[in-house]
Amino acid sequence: MDIHKLLKIHFGYDAFRPMQEDIIRHVMEGKDSLVIMPTGGGKSVCFQIPALALPNTTLVISPLIALMKDQVNALHALGISAAAYNSHAGADELRRIENDALDGKLKMLYISPERMNGEYFNTFLSRLKIDFIAIDEAHCVSMWGNDFRPDYLNLSKLRDNFPYLPFIALTATADTATQTDICKQLKLNKPRVFISSFERKNITLTAAPSQKRMETILDLLKRHKGKSGIIYCTSRKSCETLTASLISKGINASFYHAGMDAAERTRVQEAFVNDDVEVICATIAFGMGIDKSNIRWVIHYNMPKNIEGYYQEIGRAGRDGLPAEALLFYSFADLEILKEFVQKSEGAEVFKEVQLAKLDRMWECANTTDCRTNLILNYFGEYRNENCGHCDNCLQPKAYFDGTQLAQMAISAIVRCGEQLTMGTIIDVLRGANKKELKEKGWDQVKTFGVGRHRYVTEWRAFITQMINQGLVSIDYTDFHKLRTTPLSKELLAGNIKVNLAEIVYSTKEEKVKKVPKAKAMLTSLAEDVDGELLAKLKTWRLQKARENKLPPYVIMHDSTLEAIAGMVPKDEEMLGMVPGIGEHKLKKYGGEILKLIRS
Ligand code: ADP
Ligand code: ZN
Repeated sequence: MDIHKLLKIHFGYDAFRPMQEDIIRHVMEGKDSLVIMPTGGGKSVCFQIPALALPNTTLVISPLIALMKDQVNALHALGISAAAYNSHAGADELRRIENDALDGKLKMLYISPERMNGEYFNTFLSRLKIDFIAIDEAHCVSMWGNDFRPDYLNLSKLRDNFPYLPFIALTATADTATQTDICKQLKLNKPRVFISSFERKNITLTAAPSQKRMETILDLLKRHKGKSGIIYCTSRKSCETLTASLISKGINASFYHAGMDAAERTRVQEAFVNDDVEVICATIAFGMGIDKSNIRWVIHYNMPKNIEGYYQEIGRAGRDGLPAEALLFYSFADLEILKEFVQKSEGAEVFKEVQLAKLDRMWECANTTDCRTNLILNYFGEYRNENCGHCDNCLQPKAYFDGTQLAQMAISAIVRCGEQLTMGTIIDVLRGANKKELKEKGWDQVKTFGVGRHRYVTEWRAFITQMINQGLVSIDYTDFHKLRTTPLSKELLAGNIKVNLAEIVYSTKEEKVKKVPKAKAMLTSLAEDVDGELLAKLKTWRLQKARENKLPPYVIMHDSTLEAIAGMVPKDEEMLGMVPGIGEHKLKKYGGEILKLIRS
C-alpha cells in the first residue's frame, strides 16, 4: 500500500514531516541510513511506516524497556501488531512471541540489546523473515556519545549475522564525532545520513542564574496551572526537598530518582503519565521511558553536564507541537560539581577530556547572550545564524552598558586581596559586607572595600561571571576556586580596553511575560477558537477510556487532537476523519462516541 495512505490510515496524519518520506523510501529501497532527529521529531514513523509497507517482520532494537512497552502499547492502540522481547516478559510470554513472530503475525518485534548475544536467540532470529533492522537510540553504541552502553556493543555482530539486510540507526542526540562513530560501530553500509532540523520552534528557551530559583519556578507554575512539567535536579536529596517545598505551597508534586524502589518509581511515573500528578522533581533517570506528549514545561534546577542531555531533556516538552517552555538555571557551583565529577570518575583520560569539553560547551550555552538555539544547532552540525525568535536572548535582547568601571573595581579587589578569595568573598569585599571573617583577615582594610555597594549580590555574580566568560578573570579550580587575574585583567586596569556587560533580568518580572508575544499569541489563538466546554467533555471521556483500557490518556488521543476536535466541532464521520491524529482505526473505534459527545 502507498506510504501516504498508511500514514493516514494508521496514524491519521495527512503529510509527512520534512525528511520522513525520504528516509522511508531510502529504507524501502534496501539501503542503510543514519537518522539524526530531535526528540519529538517523528523518528518512529520513519521505521514504522516501512515496517507496515513491507511484507515481513521488522526488528527494532531499543535499550529502554519502558519505552518499548510504551511504543508497543501505542502500536496496539493504532491496530498494529507488535511485541516486546525483553527481560520483563515471562518465559511463557517469550515462547508466545516467538511463535507469533515465526508465524508471521508480528509487523514489529522490539528487542533489548542484551538479548542479542544468546545462541538460542540468534537461532530464533535466523529462522525469522526479517525485512530490515531499526536501531533506536543509536548513540548508545558510541563512546563519543553522551550515553554509552556496553550492551550496545553486541550490536556490531548484527551486521555479520545479517550482511544483506538494510539497517536504519536513529538517534536524537549525536554531535558530529558521534555520528561518524555510530556508522563505524554498526558497520553501516554506505549509509545516507539524514540530519533533520533540531530546532524545536514551539519551545521557548530561557536561562537564568540560580539565585531566585523558587520565586521563578512558582511564577512559571502559575502560568501553567494544572499542566504537566518536570523539574530536573542533580541530586536525589534536592528532588525530595524541592518536592516538599512545592507541596507546602499547595502544588501537586512528586519526586522520582534511582534511590527509590522499582514499584514506587513505576507508581510515580504512571501517576504523571495519567495526569494525576502535575509536577515531577526528578534526576535524569526520569523521562527516558516515557512518551507523554502534553508536557508543557521542563525546568533544569541545576545545569546539565552536556548539551546533548540538556536538549534531550527539554525535548520532552511540547511533543504535541503546542507551545512549551524550557527554563535552565545555572551557577558556578553546578559547574564545579560537574567538573569534579568528571575528574574523579574512572575511565581513560581521553574520555574525561571529551566530557570536560562537552561541559564547557554547556556552560557557554547557559551564559550566552546570543541566540541559544543557534548555539545548540551549531553544536549538532546544523549551521544557521538567523535568530530563532523563541529564546530569551532573541525575545528580549540584553541591554548592554559600559561596564569598564565595574570590571575595574572587581579586578582591583581581586588583586588587592592577593588573588586569594573566591567569588562570594570578593563580592562581600566589593559590597563592604559586615562580616567577622572579613575583619579577622583584614579584608575590610583594602582600598576597594565597599566600592561596589550600589549593586546587589546577584548582579555582581552575573557581572563577574560575564567577566570570566570574556577572559578578564579566571577561576583556579585546582586551588579552591579562587579568582585569579589574567593577562586581560592588567590591560583593563591600565585602561587599555573597555568592557561591555549585560544587565541581568530575571524571568519572574511581570514585563517578561508581556514580552513573550509569540508563544502567548500561539496559545491564545488556539484557545480562542476552541469550544472550552466540549474540550473539557472530551478530556473526561478520554480519561474514562484510558482507565478502561489501562493506557495513558495520550495514547487514546493526543491533547492536540482533542483541541483540534473542539476547534473544528466536526458534524459527521467524514469531517472527524480529517482531524489530524484521527486515522481510520481510531475513527472506527471512537468516532461514534465522539460524535455523540459533540451532539450532546
Ligand atoms: P521521536 O521518536 O522522534 O521522539 P515520535 O516518533 O514519538 O518522535 O513522534 C513525536 C510525535 O509526532 C508523535 O506524537 C507522533 O505521532 C507525531 N508525528 C510523527 N510524524 C508525524 C507527522 N507526519 N505528522 C504529524 N504528527 C506526526
Ligand atoms: Zn534565539
